[in-house]
Parts: sequence; structure tokens; C-alpha cells
Amino acid sequence: MADSRNLYQEVILDHNKKPRNFGALADATHKSEGLNPLCGDHIYLSLKVSGANIEAVQFEGESCAICKASASMMTTVVKGKTRDDAEQLVNEFRDMVIGKLDTAAQPHHLGRLTVFAGVRDLPTRVKCAILPWHTLHAALNSQRTTSTEADADPMQAPILGT
Ligand code: ZN
Repeated sequence: MADSRNLYQEVILDHNKKPRNFGALADATHKSEGLNPLCGDHIYLSLKVSGANIEAVQFEGESCAICKASASMMTTVVKGKTRDDAEQLVNEFRDMVIGKLDTAAQPHHLGRLTVFAGVRDLPTRVKCAILPWHTLHAALNSQRTTSTEADADPMQAPILGT
């Protein structure tokens, strides 16, 4: 338990110090803006999608450390993946941080993203961690904005592959 907590803190610090894929893509095909009013997280995601593949993804904006680390790590993981694989990760990441998916006992594709599993014990941080993933889902589905406090709360809404 102490080990996973240390790893979590290391990852958060590392990605805040050196956020990966930070900035806007000049040749983006898909863009979305994500808001988490409860914390003040406000991010922009730009993607370059070619056919079924996500060739590039970048993020920018102002957010707390957890949101920033989640966004940074997300960009490294989904770059080069298919849209379907990315949507599957959106679902699995959400299920993990809301406690529906037990990454130790159930099959999943989250890999090193499991460092965020402990967020489920921090209810006020769940939306921070999940925001980049909902913004990714929105971008892939040509929604310009998404908010954790929208009428159709993405925390509750089912996210389906296609
Ligand atoms: Zn936040």
C-alpha cells in the first residue's frame, strides 16, 4: 500500500514538472474543451485522427496536479492507438476511479494508468482525474465541450464504444 502511494505521488510530480504532449496541435482534426467547475480544471485537447487511428494528441490549459498528470499520461497512452482502443480505456479508467473496476482482480488494459486507482478513495479528486478522459471521449465524438457538471453528467452517463 505504501509503495503504490509513493508511486502515485512520483507520477503526479513527474508529469507536473514535465507534462508530456503539452500545447495545441497545429493540424488537429478533433478538438474539445473540458471543464470541472468544482475544482477549476479547464483543459483543451487536440487530436489528429487518421481513419481509425489517433496519430497525435496534445493538451493544454489550467488544472490541478491530478488533472494535469492524468491528461499528460493519457496523451502518452492513447497516441498511436485506435479510436476503439482509446474509448475502451476511457471506460476502464472511469470504472477504475469510481471503484467499479478492481484492477487487481478484473481484466483490463490500463497498464501503468493503474497508479490512479487510489483516486477512488478521494471523492473530491475523482472528477479531476477523469476530466481528460471525458474530454477525449468528447473530442472523438465531435463534442466541443464537456463538463463534469453538465446536465448529462459524464460521470453518470454510459460511454459506449461506437
Ligand atoms: Zn482538479
